[in-house]
Amino acid sequence: MKLSEALEQCPTELLVGGDWRPGADGRRITVHDPATAEPIASCASASEADAVAAVDAAALALPGWAATPARERSAVLRRAYELMTERADYFATLISAENGKALTDARAEVGYAAEFFRWYAEEAVRLAGTVQHAPAGGGRILVDRAPIGVAVLVTPWNYPAAMATRKIGPALAAGCAVVLKPAGETPLTALAVGALMAEAGAPAGVVNVVPAARSGAVVAAMLDRPAVRKLSFTGSTEVGRTLLRTAADRVLSTSMELGGNAPFLVLEDADPDVAVAAALLAKMRNGGEACTAANRFYVHESVADEFGARLAAAMGALRVGPGLDPGTEVGPLVNAAARTKVAELVEDAVARGARVLTGGRAPAGRGHYYEPTVLDRVAPDSAILAEEIFGPVAPLVRFRDEADAIRLANDTEYGLVSYVCTRDLGRGLAVAGALETGMVGVNRGVVSDPAAPFGGVKQSGLGREGGHEGILEYTETKYIAADW
Ligand code: NAD
Repeated sequence: MKLSEALEQCPTELLVGGDWRPGADGRRITVHDPATAEPIASCASASEADAVAAVDAAALALPGWAATPARERSAVLRRAYELMTERADYFATLISAENGKALTDARAEVGYAAEFFRWYAEEAVRLAGTVQHAPAGGGRILVDRAPIGVAVLVTPWNYPAAMATRKIGPALAAGCAVVLKPAGETPLTALAVGALMAEAGAPAGVVNVVPAARSGAVVAAMLDRPAVRKLSFTGSTEVGRTLLRTAADRVLSTSMELGGNAPFLVLEDADPDVAVAAALLAKMRNGGEACTAANRFYVHESVADEFGARLAAAMGALRVGPGLDPGTEVGPLVNAAARTKVAELVEDAVARGARVLTGGRAPAGRGHYYEPTVLDRVAPDSAILAEEIFGPVAPLVRFRDEADAIRLANDTEYGLVSYVCTRDLGRGLAVAGALETGMVGVNRGVVSDPAAPFGGVKQSGLGREGGHEGILEYTETKYIAADW
């Protein structure tokens, strides 16, 4: 689909209580194309008053939605899955245009995003409680699940559709009404998701969407409203910490999907084909702009030369270009600041002795591009091993002893995901058990699956999204002591 056609179809006002309306103070957010740094569209920006109106609309819609039979809520989500799948081209075009990612990545995201609707359409009708005999006798213990209430959802720019549907799906399945505050870089996809939910049959006020230029003030205003019972946030650990403090004032239930610093271990008995293919996926899916992106490669010294050479050849062969060009495999980074950060991390690593096997430059010309890069023999004190790179750069560190590799892998405050490659499954599972992360990929470079509980330990987050666990985040446990 042509970008002009997609932009024509995409709403650009706030979605509040079923109405599309401009922001109360008339402000707008300009959306830029990362391939050119030029503006491509604008949308309304919510003020605090707009955001509070969205919370009030959700509060008004909540009782009706919570009382709607699960089968009907499920049907709305199923319809959302079908509509998003039918319109994959439209969503992929919007995602690629405002985020910059290659169309192939954008299409993959749409498939992933739609699957959350399908999965939670199936979960909506399977939310069960328990009944047990009180051990002391004389009564029964009934445990029920009730919708938690109005949920505020705050999402990042790197997966503008999937991070929204991963929250909206389980929230609606559980019977909650939501206000989505998307990232300022990628509001169009979120507004398109809002329109899709209305078309799928979500009643007015059940899904509200409020992009906001002043995200701090606007989210704080929403969290201050008594009707709000839940905050689900995906983004950086730094902003997550701030929001946890704010949420503490009202003792809000929070789910936090935060930053990562994923280690990728290649043991000496790894199948080289499997290790390189998994590394390429773990590093380059979404151009490296993923919380799950492999951030540090620990490679056994006996296989490091071959692994480094093969990964560099594969990374160096990737076609870099505008996301919307059909031949592009790696698009630009989201903005100038993201590219500057990547360039500085590479410069620091090289200054400390790293060898550039491929890439290592930001090409001249317009657009926020950075070359796919592999760095070998990265020194342990390099900033690139401690910080989230969020770009197409693979730093390699050699190890001799498996225990050392595990110690280095765990030497971080992050704990989202890790990867290990080995032909010995028993050994792989033992290493997986020793790695301090919420998720581990064994001989594979992607762990994300709508049917699986996604989330981190340590400062990578609280709670899980996806799987059966994902719907529980939007429920309260209600215990009833009963005699009969
Ligand atoms: P970010 O933390 O800057 O922003 C995330 C969201 O929070 C955006 O909507 C932003 O507008 C909003 N925000 C920013 N400051 C705020 C404040 N003070 N109060 C309230 N809201 C505020 O993150 P980003 O740059 O958009 O996304 C990249 C980060 O997200 C990376 O750290 C990445 O690892 C993380 N991420 C994590 C997951 C996961 O599932 N764990 C998934 C995707 C991205």
